[in-house]
Amino acid sequence: MLPHTDTIYGKLVANDGDGGETIITGDLLTYDSKNSGSDEKYDYFQWKIKGWSDSWAGEGEEDILEKLVADGTITYQATFPDGTTVSNQKLLNLCVRLAGEKNGSNFGITTIRTKSVNFSVSDVIKKGIAIKEQGYKQIDPFKTYINRFYFDVDLKKIGEANWPTNNYASLDMQKLSSCGNSRIYNIYDVMNINNGATIMNSKNVVLGTLIAPSLPVHESGHAFCGLEDEYKFDYNRASGYPNCFSSTGISNGFGDYGSPYLICESSNRYRTSYCSIMGCGDESKTIRDNIALRPEKFNLWDCGVCLSKIDSKGTLKENAQYCRNNSFDVVNIDGKPNASTLECSNNADCENKKDIKWDPGCIDYCVANKCVSAAGQSCTFIVKNSNGTIANGADGKCGSKEASTEGRCLQIKYSCVKSTGECVEDVNGIFSSVNSCKPGCPKPPQKYSCDAAKGTCVQDNNGQWESPGSCAVACPKP
Ligand SMILES: [Zn+2]
Repeated sequence: MLPHTDTIYGKLVANDGDGGETIITGDLLTYDSKNSGSDEKYDYFQWKIKGWSDSWAGEGEEDILEKLVADGTITYQATFPDGTTVSNQKLLNLCVRLAGEKNGSNFGITTIRTKSVNFSVSDVIKKGIAIKEQGYKQIDPFKTYINRFYFDVDLKKIGEANWPTNNYASLDMQKLSSCGNSRIYNIYDVMNINNGATIMNSKNVVLGTLIAPSLPVHESGHAFCGLEDEYKFDYNRASGYPNCFSSTGISNGFGDYGSPYLICESSNRYRTSYCSIMGCGDESKTIRDNIALRPEKFNLWDCGVCLSKIDSKGTLKENAQYCRNNSFDVVNIDGKPNASTLECSNNADCENKKDIKWDPGCIDYCVANKCVSAAGQSCTFIVKNSNGTIANGADGKCGSKEASTEGRCLQIKYSCVKSTGECVEDVNGIFSSVNSCKPGCPKPPQKYSCDAAKGTCVQDNNGQWESPGSCAVACPKP
């Protein structure tokens, strides 16, 4: 074995699979004693290759690299200073450790690509780094417990071209991946999709190539933590997941570690926060179906559920309490995405999504990619007759987004301003027209007050005299 300070001249050769060889050219090999013998049965050599200084993922070297990875073996030939040469063939370890330590109690998270996507070696490495840095490392409780995880990238391409996602979701990655015993396999398997999927309490997460780096953490919420989606599905899945509560289960369910918000995947169950990385209820209303607007944080209760899988503090409540006591980075339980900052590309993106037939003229506008409220705009108030028919009613004005349960167009009503005897528009008024308001809204008797500086009497609703004459008597010219 070479001492770590030794270097020898060498040549790196990849078999090309047809019995031929591709010389990768190299002239310097160092033995890395620091990495050798840690958790895998491989010796670690570092090749310093001319023109390829920037590690494996050097630009323009992808073809050679891909060939090397596909073959999985490498031949090294080295010449010692005394002229003797050695040559040997080794299996490549295609599992690249990005960070962390593999030991009995830590959890592996592996990023891997399939033959269904055209990811290069450097693409999958970059994705693995992004998932780690911008995903798990930013989001509690993974963030605080990041040292309980190690991150690998498997350079191997798995599966077949154009396989459906279902195939990848059910593969035995334990056997198939170069990175054995990972807890989670984040598998890039669909081109040009920004979504992902997994199976509850499983290992495989399937991902589109356009996903945000935080999405694997959402999917780990299912696969690792056992959390249910907190947004609405069209059908109701099985019950019994730790973050969705029936109305009878709330009181002794999550205690004061959350607030009950209706819809937790099923329309009759409750999630514990308005919005979280696991979902935002009826997302057509809360975030206008833009999953990029989901917070990239768990809520307090879900933090506890996930923590119970990493380093349990006892009951779920005690785990949630631990997240609270230690100020883990979780969402504000009742926090809502600010509607005025939601991005849009057209007015339809800004629809209220309450039954639109109740809202003629009350669709918010999309101006400079921001939804601008239609509140105050004219609209036609719709009347629903007792037999269920709908008819145009009186003039209306658009209220705020939360104006009513059926629509935003509020009938214009009138109220009397007693001090002036005027009937004015007022959505809270008790008169349906000016004409019905007027009889009950007489002009107050005119009054007068004395402008003492000029000695003249002026009209004044708050004046103390009923007539100019009675005022004049008490209002001498100076
Ligand atoms: Zn989900």
